[in-house]
Amino acid sequence: MQAESIIRSTCPFCGVGCRVDLHVRGGRIFRADAPFDVAPNYGRLCVKGRFGWDFVGHPTRLAYPLVRRTLQTPGHRTPASGPEDWRQVSWDEALATVADRLLSLADRFGADSITANACAKATNEDNYLLQKYIRGVIGTNNVDHCARLCHAGSVAGLQLALGSSAMSNSIAEMSDLECFMVTGSNTTETHPVISTFLKQAVERKGARLIVADPRQTEMTQFAALWLRHRPGTDTALFNAMANVIVSEGLANQAFIAARTEGYHAYVADLAGKTPEWAEQITGVPAADIRAAARMYAGAKAAAIYWGMGISQSTHGSDNTLTLTNLALLCGHVGRPGTGLNPLRGQNNVQGCSDSGGSPGVYTAYQPLTDPAVRAKFEAAWGATLPDKPGLTTTEFVDGVFTGRVKGWYLMGENPLMSEPHQAHAREAVEQLEFLVSQDIFFNETNIYADVILPAASFAEQEGTFTNTDRRVQRVAVAVPPPGEARPDWQILTDLAHVTLKKMGRPEAAASWSYTSASDVWEEMRRLTPDFWGIDYERLAREHGVHWPCPAPDHPGTPYLFEQEFPRGRGKFWPVAWKTDSELPDDEYPFVLSTGRVLYHWHGGTMTRVSSLDAIWPECTVELHPKDAERLAVASGDWVEVSSRRGSITARALVTGRSPRGLVFVPFHFAEAAANVLTDVRLDARAKIPDYKVCAVRLSRAEPPQDRPGADVPLIGRGAIKDPVGQ
Ligand code: SF4
Repeated sequence: MQAESIIRSTCPFCGVGCRVDLHVRGGRIFRADAPFDVAPNYGRLCVKGRFGWDFVGHPTRLAYPLVRRTLQTPGHRTPASGPEDWRQVSWDEALATVADRLLSLADRFGADSITANACAKATNEDNYLLQKYIRGVIGTNNVDHCARLCHAGSVAGLQLALGSSAMSNSIAEMSDLECFMVTGSNTTETHPVISTFLKQAVERKGARLIVADPRQTEMTQFAALWLRHRPGTDTALFNAMANVIVSEGLANQAFIAARTEGYHAYVADLAGKTPEWAEQITGVPAADIRAAARMYAGAKAAAIYWGMGISQSTHGSDNTLTLTNLALLCGHVGRPGTGLNPLRGQNNVQGCSDSGGSPGVYTAYQPLTDPAVRAKFEAAWGATLPDKPGLTTTEFVDGVFTGRVKGWYLMGENPLMSEPHQAHAREAVEQLEFLVSQDIFFNETNIYADVILPAASFAEQEGTFTNTDRRVQRVAVAVPPPGEARPDWQILTDLAHVTLKKMGRPEAAASWSYTSASDVWEEMRRLTPDFWGIDYERLAREHGVHWPCPAPDHPGTPYLFEQEFPRGRGKFWPVAWKTDSELPDDEYPFVLSTGRVLYHWHGGTMTRVSSLDAIWPECTVELHPKDAERLAVASGDWVEVSSRRGSITARALVTGRSPRGLVFVPFHFAEAAANVLTDVRLDARAKIPDYKVCAVRLSRAEPPQDRPGADVPLIGRGAIKDPVGQ
């Protein structure tokens, strides 16, 4: 089929941020490929980028503003059972309803009774305007997004140690790595194109790879050393590596003297944290810990990459600090091929944070508690801004139960799939006075909403995404949105005008006079020194620019910290070994770990209505052959997985990829939602939940009567193969 147009854009799934050419005919995307001469992917795409586009034109897309026919009241809020429960309304009526209800809550309970989720899938411009609306119009800092649920542990740890939480090095450096460690990241399935560069470094350049992971991932097949530690024992493992580096004189004393602080107290704390001590906790042989420490410290340049296995923990910030300590000890930061690199999950989770989508900061982490910064934004927005940081998204839920939170504005988020302990989150949603959802599909949460605002997808609007290595890239209009759906930035602009008029603040509407996404970006960059050198024309010319980019003639910054850290000196942090996770016991003897499979994306809202769903059509419970034998189950048999919070039923996938005692459940499947099982315990600093360790039990189950395909054999369905593993 011949394309009528080919539109260059950016993949909307993961944080790699692959550039993609969308082939369009008759108002539909029918093919996607990637330009070979453009970073960051240079022609590569994974299965989602290549074939996952059909959600854009799906007939179930939200196309018209909707208002619930029945008034929903706190404690009695119910899910809509179908289209008949909604009334199609004009945009004017929908926006007036949202403004009236939010202002009513602000009048009766104060602006801090309102919370909002920014969206890690929406553009920087959309997110900038959401936080501007919530802060500058409504008057609260209660805005947060799903980074709280994925990399808050990394952010908190990196901020404490370095004063910056972004990935420090670029994807382009991966091909030439000398030595690197991957931990808590099933890179092949979660950041597929990045994994190809990492594997290439091993295969073609002889790079030495250390993998630290309880699960056997494809990356372990490329590793010189695989440290298979027990789930949740990360800090013991990395402290013991540090102990070896110090005791064997492998630390980079020149770097430590010039660039760090807190070294002596840190070294004193490492005494006793020997490999033999760590072996007892982690199960990793002491000799392997020594070998890993020598390999990492002995390299001229070494980098660390990690995923949610490190951050999604009650000690996620501690895990990050132990990794940061290793890099500071060896001086493996601030040069090409070194660095500390949390691999960000969603396509624009970096950009959503950069755009001010967090409760304590404006754009590019400018603190709202700084009076000068606040005054700058007040002048630009024509508003008096609140000076106290707001609630985090995990605190939104608890805030409902304490009566503090009454209203929730969801932009592209689905908390009933993403929050831990689904029943707890559902109860919170049921208690709300008002719920509005701005989205592209119905989902498990917004069927409880009072108002639905239909949004354009990434392929139907202009804007920018910022990928995991801080590269700002454009998206472009490839196809028209369905029905009356509008870009998020336009919805928020219109809503701001309606709200300000009702508030009697028409003068403030002057700061909402955008006619394009480019107008929004121009305002963002004027207020954000790190973005000042980036404009749409430059992005079109250069395909992408790494921030910080403080001037139009600045080349951008592929790697950070060459001269100094944002906090000045990098700080060593002693970290004690402890765990606050829910550990297995006689009643719940297995550890549950949750994560992704290659073919799906997060809550499945996009991939489960695409052809990808045929490739991996159902939830699987991965468990070790010895555990399966004891339970008398084989791959394809139905099992019930139960925790203290609930139960799901799904089919067993028996494989040595998970060690004995661990079960792995992907979190994409609403009919067997992993977050029915997970726990609400949080990292005290980062407020991130523990999605990687909680206690569950397993038992054989009957096939659910209401599950399509329950009678079809599991193995051989799509890409589900008879698995292998050690
Ligand atoms: Fe899209 Fe990520 Fe796959 Fe690239 S690796 S095509 S960004 S999902």
